[in-house]
Amino acid sequence: MTAKASVSFLEEALAENFGFDTFKGSQEAIIQSLFDGKDTFVIMPTGGGKSLCYQLPGIMMEGCALVISPLIALMKNQVDSIRSHGESDEIAHFLNSSLSKTQMRQVKEDITSGKTKLLFVAPETLTKEENIEFFREARISFVAIDEAHCISEWGHDFRPEYRRIREMLDLIGHNIPIIALTATATPKVQSDIVKNLRMGEDHNTFVSSFNRDNLYYEVRPKGKKEYTFRQIIKIVKEMPDQSGIIYVQSRKSAEEIAQALVVNGVKAAPYHAGLDPKTRSRTQDQFLMEDVDVICATIAFGMGIDKPDVRFVMHYDIPKSIENYYQETGRAGRDGLGGRCIAFYAYKDILKLEKFLRDKPLMEREMGAQLMQEVMAYSETTACRRRFLLHYFGEEYDEVNCNKMCDNCRHPRERVEVTQSVVEALQAVKTLDENYPLKTLTEFVLGKETKQMKDYGFTDLPGFGSGKDKEDVFWSSVFRQALLNNLVRKDIESYGTLKLTKEGEAFLKKPYTFEIPIDHDFEKE
Ligand code: ADP
Repeated sequence: MTAKASVSFLEEALAENFGFDTFKGSQEAIIQSLFDGKDTFVIMPTGGGKSLCYQLPGIMMEGCALVISPLIALMKNQVDSIRSHGESDEIAHFLNSSLSKTQMRQVKEDITSGKTKLLFVAPETLTKEENIEFFREARISFVAIDEAHCISEWGHDFRPEYRRIREMLDLIGHNIPIIALTATATPKVQSDIVKNLRMGEDHNTFVSSFNRDNLYYEVRPKGKKEYTFRQIIKIVKEMPDQSGIIYVQSRKSAEEIAQALVVNGVKAAPYHAGLDPKTRSRTQDQFLMEDVDVICATIAFGMGIDKPDVRFVMHYDIPKSIENYYQETGRAGRDGLGGRCIAFYAYKDILKLEKFLRDKPLMEREMGAQLMQEVMAYSETTACRRRFLLHYFGEEYDEVNCNKMCDNCRHPRERVEVTQSVVEALQAVKTLDENYPLKTLTEFVLGKETKQMKDYGFTDLPGFGSGKDKEDVFWSSVFRQALLNNLVRKDIESYGTLKLTKEGEAFLKKPYTFEIPIDHDFEKE
């Protein structure tokens, strides 16, 4: 007879309440930290098993756990899922603006009588006077703050009411541990969260690796609509009957791509804010039931839905931040099997996103521009994409471990030396007094005799047309690489005009070998 390793009391509770034999990653240590009464900070990628870190102790501890969550839909999903494991419906409730007075009263009664172990609240519900009164009297086991990155202005999903959570907890007045959880936090966002929540000095932080080694990352140049649609259809057809999500920025694209797929015999459907809630929820159900294989979605589709066998996530339009990209691609391959993550990238899409920022307050504009600069760098990098993503989240990663699971590791891109062209490009920036955006500069070196060029007398300046032997994609690429290598910077205050940086000046004085990648033609493979 083999001796069975002893089972901890937490493992026993896990099996009893959730039917799982073992904890995933650091779940057990995290739960133990809460039992020790410590403030606990959990950074774990999507699919890592964050919910269990507060659900299990919530069920086990005396009193009711408060779970602060940003979205009503997320709360509802969680409550349904806990109820499906539990013995009674009262075990979990949510408290938000969708409830009637009577329902609210019932929820509070269930908490007072000790039946409810987990209460999901929206931050704005927490701030209501009568609720604060109630929580002050109630027996609260701990407070969980889900999607904690919403606290930070440096995150991709800042919610001002999240910054008031600490204040509310002080008013409620219990000296109870808090657990903050998020799937996306750069080092900057992390320190913001700890500071804002005033986590105890002896708080514990648990950072799980963000590496998803079953996901394949790829970026393809985005050409004309028909051409890109054809590629999408081809990719989808390579994976027949498999589930996938295609993210887009506009309702129109969602409709059009879904339509193009349907015409080609794929079970696809659009999902966007212009559809009524009933249709949206039906589409979501059809996706879960596999009556629909491919969803073309504009909004946070997939948040809180748990479909483990999504085999691909495509981005027809590039997202606004790396956090968004990581989060959305993270919905592929949650079962640990393969997942293809393909983004279509065109520099012009970055410009489009920048345009949306124009009317925003300066602070927001600057942050938005910075987040997008990272997206651009990711899209244009010739190095390991996985390493880029992990670095972004503050994780060291050696690209040899990528195992050819990104396009750049699988097909290293050819590079060409363009030192002289960079000199010409930077010279053009200077000649036009650092007053023009990339597009005008490209036209200038190409010697395009547009109205603007002629009206401003640019056609007579030195350097006009100096690069006419090359194509515009080449020049646009030279300027973008100069941007990415910090030889020029984009001034968002003056509509994206390019300015020479110190490094750029130095380069002009003493040029060094500069190489850029040649874009890969994926169609020919
Ligand atoms: P996250 O919130 O971090 O994205 P979830 O809490 O939704 O992750 O968990 C992801 C999946 O992992 C769910 O299907 C959940 O049931 C499952 N899961 C969580 N913990 C365990 C465990 N200890 N053993 C097996 N499966 C688990």
